[in-house]
Amino acid sequence: MPKVYCYCYVFDTTTKRNRKCKLKPKYTYDNKKYCHVHINNTTYVSSIIKIQSVYRGYLGRKLVKKYNTLPEEVQRIICKYTHQDIYYYRYCDKISTIIINKAINFMKNYYLTYSQCEFIENMFNGNRHTFETLENINYLKSMFKEIIHIFYLIDKYINILNISKIKNYHFDGTDYSLKYKLIEMGNICLLYKGFIESMVPESQNYNFYCIRDLSKNLED
Ligand SMILES: [Zn+2]
Repeated sequence: MPKVYCYCYVFDTTTKRNRKCKLKPKYTYDNKKYCHVHINNTTYVSSIIKIQSVYRGYLGRKLVKKYNTLPEEVQRIICKYTHQDIYYYRYCDKISTIIINKAINFMKNYYLTYSQCEFIENMFNGNRHTFETLENINYLKSMFKEIIHIFYLIDKYINILNISKIKNYHFDGTDYSLKYKLIEMGNICLLYKGFIESMVPESQNYNFYCIRDLSKNLED
């Protein structure tokens, strides 16, 4: 008995010629034999997909009809469970947006322009005495209080935070990215940990080493 091959032709790259497909035929469609690859080129598969999608539609409508006959309390319970994923997604997205906006506003208020960065540098280097006025100290206090709180929030919600949004954020009209501003601020906080702890009482309960993990996370 002659060997049965798949009905289709393929282009042989070694002989540079069209030849019969040598795969074992598995399906018969329209009186022709097809292998498991070439059956996908026939209308046979598209009919299957159509039939299955019509059936899925029928099942869905059947469920909705059943749902409509249920008492309202039961409907509400079902709704709550079927919407859980989307609610959770919205919750994560909202928290992410709040925290990222806090970080962006912080940078704009304290650590974005050249003069803002220069001021921080001067406070900690060299001319410290001329800078140590009550006004400046209060400025630093509120700055560190805010950034420590932001780092705390980032660490608390790290698993649901949209890190790529932080990584990709650039401040308009500048060369600065939020990512590097946060890493730089993190380094300042780690460097002046003792100073911050003495100025901002809330920071004494804060685990500063989370900042190191965050920086590593952002650098990756
Ligand atoms: Zn074939």
